[in-house]
Amino acid sequence: HDFPEAVVKLGLKPYVSNQLIQWLYQKGATSFEEMTNLSKSARASLPEHFFISRLEKVSELSSSDGTRKFAWKLPEGNIVESVLIPSEPYEKAVRAGVDVDIPEEEWGTRLTLCISTQVGCAMQCKFCRTAEMGLVRNLTQGEILDQILEARRMIKPGLRISNVVLMGMGEPLANFDNVVGAIRFMIHSKAFGLSKRHVTVSTSGLVPVIAKFAKEELGVKLAISLNATTDEVRSELMPINKKYPIAKLIDACKDYIKAAGRDRITFEYVMIGGVNDLVDDAKRLVNLLSHVPSKVNLIPLNPFTGSKLKAPTEEAIQRFAQYLRNKNLQINIRSSRGQDILAACGQLASKNVT
Ligand code: SAH
Repeated sequence: HDFPEAVVKLGLKPYVSNQLIQWLYQKGATSFEEMTNLSKSARASLPEHFFISRLEKVSELSSSDGTRKFAWKLPEGNIVESVLIPSEPYEKAVRAGVDVDIPEEEWGTRLTLCISTQVGCAMQCKFCRTAEMGLVRNLTQGEILDQILEARRMIKPGLRISNVVLMGMGEPLANFDNVVGAIRFMIHSKAFGLSKRHVTVSTSGLVPVIAKFAKEELGVKLAISLNATTDEVRSELMPINKKYPIAKLIDACKDYIKAAGRDRITFEYVMIGGVNDLVDDAKRLVNLLSHVPSKVNLIPLNPFTGSKLKAPTEEAIQRFAQYLRNKNLQINIRSSRGQDILAACGQLASKNVT
C-alpha cells in the first residue's frame, strides 16, 4: 500500500502512483486494463506483481428504516459486516423536538457507512454482541477500504457516501497501522476524498494509543465509548477499564483535543436499564466532562439474545437526557437504526465463525 515505493520499484514514473490511487479509490477500477491513461507497459507489468482485491457480498439485509447491512466474505472464509445508514428525515425530527447533530444544509444528504476494522474483537465489552466472537484477526488496510468501495457499488447513481464511521466490528485502535493507513486514503483528495470532519474513529479507550493516534495528525473525529461514570461499573462492563481507568481516559481526551487540533470529542454512552441510566450517573457524567469540550451521544442499549442486560425505559432516557441538557451538555439521542436486522450498534457478529 505504499504506492509510490511500489511504483518506483517496478521502474514506473512516480506520478503513476497517484494515477493508481485515483483509479482504484476514486473511480473504483477492478482491473488494470481499464486504467487507460497508464502506459501499455505499466498495464502489462502491474498485474504481474499486484492484484486488485475485492470483497464478495454474501448477504444483504434491509431494515424498514432504510438501513442496509452487508456481509462480506474474506478470502479465508471469515465474514465481516458494514452498515449503510441514510440520513433520517431531520426536519421531522427537529419538529418533534429531537436533537440532531448535523447542520441544516446537510439534512437529507448524509449517507453514512459504518465499517469494521477487525473480524471479531478482543475487548470483551459485556453489552456488545461482537465481543462474543473474540478476536479472530485484524482486517488489512485493503479490506478496510474495500468495504467502502463495495458499498459504493451498492448505492444509487448520484448518491455518495458522505460519512464513514469506524464503529463496526472491532477495536480500531487495536489495529493501528492498517486503520491509520486506510484513513489516509479516505481523506486523500485523489482517493475517497472524504472530509476529515466526516470520518469518525470510535474507541473503547486504549489510552496510550489515543496519544499515538493524535500524533498522526489525521484531523478526523474521535469518539470515545465511555458508557459508565464510575470505574467500578465501567470495569464490569468494559474490562479494558481495569487497565485504563476513567480518569486516565479523560486526560487522554483532553490531550487529543490539543494535539489533534479538534474542537471537541464525542462521548458515546450506551444506556443500560438499571445499570448506568440513573440521575446519579448523569450527575457524575456532567462532572467528568466539565473540563472536556464534548458532545454526548446517548445510545439506548440494543439488546441481543443471550445477554441479560436490558434497554433503558423511555422515561429513564428522557430523565437522563434532560438532566444533561439542563447542565448545558450537548447531547444527542442516537436512534437505533437497523435493529430489526441486527445492524444497530453492538449487534454485528458473524455466526459462521466460532
Ligand atoms: N470498539 C470500538 C468501535 C465500536 S463502536 C468502540 O468500542 O468504540 C460501537 C459503539 O456501539 C460503541 O460506542 C459501543 O459502546 C456501542 N455499543 C456496543 N454494543 C452496544 C449495544 N448492545 N447497544 C448499543 N450500543 C452498543
